[in-house]
Amino acid sequence: MPSTATSLRRLWGIAELRAAIANARRDGSRIGFVPTMGALHRGHLSLVDRARAESDLVVMSIFVNPLQFGPTEDFTRYPRPIEDDERFAADAGVDVLFTPGTDEMYPDGRVVNVTAGDRGRQWEGAVRPGHFDGVLTVVAKLFNIVAPDVAVFGRKDLQQAALVKSMVRDLDFPLTIVVAPTIREPDGLALSSRNSYLRGKERADALSLVGSLRAAAERFAAGEDDARRLEDAGRDVLAAVPGVRLAYFAVVNRDTLEAESRARRGSAVIVAARVGSTRFIDNLILGENDQD
Ligand code: AMP
Repeated sequence: MPSTATSLRRLWGIAELRAAIANARRDGSRIGFVPTMGALHRGHLSLVDRARAESDLVVMSIFVNPLQFGPTEDFTRYPRPIEDDERFAADAGVDVLFTPGTDEMYPDGRVVNVTAGDRGRQWEGAVRPGHFDGVLTVVAKLFNIVAPDVAVFGRKDLQQAALVKSMVRDLDFPLTIVVAPTIREPDGLALSSRNSYLRGKERADALSLVGSLRAAAERFAAGEDDARRLEDAGRDVLAAVPGVRLAYFAVVNRDTLEAESRARRGSAVIVAARVGSTRFIDNLILGENDQD
């Protein structure tokens, strides 16, 4: 496909990014922001499309944030195909690509963190202590650096999106958060930068995550609203796949992530499991088309 890119500007420094954004603002532009860790795929690009629809200047950041990785996690091996990402972002219509180094984001001597509180200690946070504190700290910094009117996050990371919304409300960040639907492969696998870790039959094993969510959603569509039974239906699917180790499968409130005993239209079903050496998460909203 020929490149449709016109003028992507790649910036590394906070000061130069602020200057570029201040210029655009003076011209009356609304700023849309898509924070990522790179290894871009169509899921990320759908967020760019959404940001484009809501704003005039689209800023994307690519920063693999060390604060949100635990000591035994994949920070070092996380994919960083920055040249491909830059081309991909340009083709997608990103105007400004912000790719700070770790020293730019975390110079020596920092003492203050954002904490996610109790809701950051459940589900993903229970298995990944400190993960959401790291996420919220970098997102708060990026919001202060970019000062966007609107920032777009993926529903794929439901707990993250919920906590970012809570932070924006509780700490009065002057911007709107948009949460966009999960983009999937044709067979249902949710796109993820970590899918590149899947080897051989692990790709088929990983499909059981969305299979388990759909099993629960089908039971709900057939009239079952007892959360335990829906969870059992999902867990059965995963238990049948030896290569998958379940971490949690639960029916929750989509905003608070609190477990629900009665499923309702709009409840979320969330799953996390290890396939091979990699942890994957996925979710569905009950009674809604996945793409809504
Ligand atoms: P990441 O680069 O994994 O930190 O993700 C950056 C943003 O892309 C987050 O808001 C994610 O929720 C979102 N995202 C990741 N995968 C998908 C997907 N398959 N569909 C839509 N958004 C996604």
